[in-house]
Amino acid sequence: MDAFDAFLRVQIDPITYVVFFGLLLFFGLMETWAERSPEPARRAGRWPANVGLTILNIVILGALPVSGVVFADGVREAGMGLFNWVQANPVAALIGGFLVRSFTSWATHLAMHKIPFLWRFHRVHHSDTFLDISTTVRFHPIEFLINLPITLATIAIFGISPVTLMLYELFDAGMNVFTHANIRMPAWLDRTLRTMIVTPDMHRVHHSSYHPETDSNYGATLSIWDHVFRTHTFKEADDLEEMEIGLRELQDKRANSLIWLLALPFRPIRIKRWILGNTIESETAQKDAA
Ligand SMILES: [Zn+2]
Repeated sequence: MDAFDAFLRVQIDPITYVVFFGLLLFFGLMETWAERSPEPARRAGRWPANVGLTILNIVILGALPVSGVVFADGVREAGMGLFNWVQANPVAALIGGFLVRSFTSWATHLAMHKIPFLWRFHRVHHSDTFLDISTTVRFHPIEFLINLPITLATIAIFGISPVTLMLYELFDAGMNVFTHANIRMPAWLDRTLRTMIVTPDMHRVHHSSYHPETDSNYGATLSIWDHVFRTHTFKEADDLEEMEIGLRELQDKRANSLIWLLALPFRPIRIKRWILGNTIESETAQKDAA
């Protein structure tokens, strides 16, 4: 495990870039001949804002003086965290680490939908009116900054090892491209995969403009937490193709403006929302149009 650890530390960045951009290219090509949505992708209108946010996020994340791996090293050296206390064997710690990281990702995502302050930032991701590979990193940069201390706290509490962390982040990067891709898979393959991991059809429901569907399928990597906590929604292929994507109150060209999206969390918004309910009432459209 030590040799693998040393190898990953040196190679994880190039491996991540190859996997991420390789999958963008692969699923981008798949979108041209096995697309899920029959509508035109309107790439010329949508992609400048999505690519702009992607570049901005990669630059900001790269410039942050915080490394999860260095933090995980410190936690291990201090003997902190559950897996270090019980001296779990490396394989058990790897599996446990994947479960813990996927759970905190699921729970944080649920909080992003249920807590109005967090929803302000997360709705930038949901404002895309079509779903394809360009939606993958369409996030407001502040959403990444909100996630960072949660990830560090998870590492400290559970003692997630540097190897586990590097492998999970790699898995997460690849899964994010896969789940946002506008591709259709055979129904049997989708049903088989979604017992364990999130599929494009499963995540597409999460981008529905119908809020009870938006407030479901929170998983980004493993699908098990949506099954365990009964937040899983299944839709047939025909229904998926007719489903409206994005926010019901934001179906116009404002959703394609990078500047407008960066300012979106700070715009007036009135949301009526129950912490564990499924009802939302937003009057943003009227306010923004005024
Ligand atoms: Zn979401």
